[in-house]
Amino acid sequence: MSSSVPTSVDPGKLREVMDGRWAHIRRDARENLRDPDFLPVYGETMQEARERVTRAAKKLADSGRVGLGFPKEFGGEADSGASVISIEMLAFGDLSLMVKAGVQWGLFGGALELLGTRRHHEEYLRDVMSFDLPGCFAMTETGHGSDVQQLRTTCTYDPATECFDLHTPHQAARKDYIGNAAEDGRLAVVFAQLITQGKNHGVHAWLVPIRNGDGSPCEGVTIGDDGPKAGLPGVDNGRLTFDHVQVPRDMLLDRYGQVAADGTYTSSIENETRRFFTMLGTLVRGRVSVGGSASSATKMALDIAVRYGDVRRQFAAPGEDREIVINDYLVHQRKLLPALARTYALHFAQNTLVETMHDVQTAVHVHGEQIDEEAQRELESRAAGLKVAQTAHATATIQMCREACGGAGYLQENRLPHLKADTDVFTTFEGDNTVLLQLVAKGLLTGYRDAFGSLEGWGKVGFIADMVRETVLERTAARALIARLVDAVPGVDDVPMLERGWQLKMFEFREKHALEGAIRRLRKNSTTDGMAPFDMFNDVQDHVLKTAQTHIDRVVLEAFVAGVDRTEDPAAKVLLDTVCDLYALSTIEADKAWFLEHGQLTAARAKLLTATVNQLLKELRPHLITLVDGFAIPAEWKAARILEEEADRQEAMAARDAELRTQNGEDTPQGTATDLEVAPAQ
Ligand SMILES: Cc1cc2nc3c(=O)[nH]c(=O)nc-3n(C[C@H](O)[C@H](O)[C@H](O)COP(=O)(O)OP(=O)(O)OC[C@H]3O[C@@H](n4cnc5c(N)ncnc54)[C@H](O)[C@@H]3O)c2cc1C
Repeated sequence: MSSSVPTSVDPGKLREVMDGRWAHIRRDARENLRDPDFLPVYGETMQEARERVTRAAKKLADSGRVGLGFPKEFGGEADSGASVISIEMLAFGDLSLMVKAGVQWGLFGGALELLGTRRHHEEYLRDVMSFDLPGCFAMTETGHGSDVQQLRTTCTYDPATECFDLHTPHQAARKDYIGNAAEDGRLAVVFAQLITQGKNHGVHAWLVPIRNGDGSPCEGVTIGDDGPKAGLPGVDNGRLTFDHVQVPRDMLLDRYGQVAADGTYTSSIENETRRFFTMLGTLVRGRVSVGGSASSATKMALDIAVRYGDVRRQFAAPGEDREIVINDYLVHQRKLLPALARTYALHFAQNTLVETMHDVQTAVHVHGEQIDEEAQRELESRAAGLKVAQTAHATATIQMCREACGGAGYLQENRLPHLKADTDVFTTFEGDNTVLLQLVAKGLLTGYRDAFGSLEGWGKVGFIADMVRETVLERTAARALIARLVDAVPGVDDVPMLERGWQLKMFEFREKHALEGAIRRLRKNSTTDGMAPFDMFNDVQDHVLKTAQTHIDRVVLEAFVAGVDRTEDPAAKVLLDTVCDLYALSTIEADKAWFLEHGQLTAARAKLLTATVNQLLKELRPHLITLVDGFAIPAEWKAARILEEEADRQEAMAARDAELRTQNGEDTPQGTATDLEVAPAQ
């Protein structure tokens, strides 16, 4: 197999196709986000980090970049997609700042805007946007993070005072991990159980002042500090406890549920679970931003590791004056290139997701259309799935890049330790990844029906099985294109592995099979006498998660295929096509055992698969730098000493070695890279 990739590909053409619909936002950030306060500072204390990040947040507000998602009449641009891309770009800088911004303008400001009504907007939005009113999004309690329907904080209405009584009944109900709470926050969106006229109407949100102008806690509010964390030192995460705090009636964020002066509760959404999920659904932007930001951090780590690996040398080869560049080792390529391919794939999937989110949210919040529930559920499922994929990939890839840079990767001055520590928690906040995978699976199993969220829904799984098949076969980004590619491939045996239709078929088969298997097992359990509903579900949980995982892989592949198809520059298109091959085949290779078990690969084809992946690595090796250039990360944002120093160091060493060889008449060094007896140093 000879390479079809042109020897030279213009990275600018890669950037063009990757920048997508909000290219102007990305360009603006690359050109103008240059303040040193936006970059991580190595070795600073937690207090120094907090002060710098608060200062930077104010500067960010002054730059006008944070208002993109807010309504135009309050100085924003009503551009939901732009607000996510803006956060993604910020995530190339200090991740504490990105998280602080995400809390202030995404979670806190977003909840105020989307759950609140006009009087809340008029009173607070401008100050939120300018950061004159720092705030918190106080949902999680020490006792409940994943199952937030079970929050224990209560907010009980009293018609006599026309106030709610906000109360933390015990320690497990304390608000915990809340960004902006420990130092800066003055107002909080607090989630609690709404009780009026003796009835609990489920979780709602209120605006609650937590600090006075002088910084002291408001009456009845106790504020604690979560203290040093594994990362994100610049974010002041804290705890909030409420002791019968009186909250005026109009502080209820009442877009989806209202309480009249006499205590009568009304809502346009009858069902409590549906209402709560609709409220949470409007906040999907935060989850989409976290996924995209994880990918920005991954790109940064790969950029550093790839560039370092291209100048770093270790061990000599027979007959060579200089040692081998580490990017030339097959196993190093095995680390870097599949990770790069997946990063590209996720980038295209994220772009598609942001476009979908923008369109769904614009229809409702800008054009005032009715919520299209199916589109909303599908968006939530995609957002959850891609958040899982991107944050899990970030955690694995940043660790790999740290190792790929050897000891240098462990020094703070080379950025990777910060990236690792700061992104670690991305797999947990904005939804724990395991719990989100179940959300994706439930979406598949119920065909996005309202039944999801209740265990009884699982019992009726036989009833919905037919519908499920339709859901699975539904194509994603480029329906017609994918169908054409799949239909072009008659079977699965003897088909060339670089045939895109074969790759798509393998992904589709695995997803369908996993889903059908999960359904079969659930159906069997639901007809087993005496089996408790929890056991019916729990017995199949591993299978259900596999279903979600395989679904996400397919969605990502289809988005990448559509992205390649959109690429206009011929050379960039061939390169991306080859990267797409690598994403598809390395994903199949990673699950080789499953495909063998299920008769989709023979032993001979399984070996051919590994050989084909290795061949792709060989073809892509010359384009490693082009591929990270395609991320278009400005040099000033990288803040990694090895990128500035290693190349010169290597050249100086080579020059001195050459000099010594000339002086002493020595031969070239022994071939330690190929010598089986050489032990690596300690
Ligand atoms: C740095 C940081 C910042 C944060 N910022 C905020 C903020 O600003 N506002 C806010 O409201 N919250 C915030 N959070 C809270 C965060 O959203 C929660 O920590 C998260 O949702 C997980 O909840 P938990 O900690 O209760 O974990 P748990 O839900 O207790 O999860 C613990 C483990 O149990 C597993 N598990 C749970 N349920 C299931 C299940 N059904 N099946 C299988 N496994 C399960 C999970 O996979 C996980 O491994 C923040 C957290 C951190 C660490």
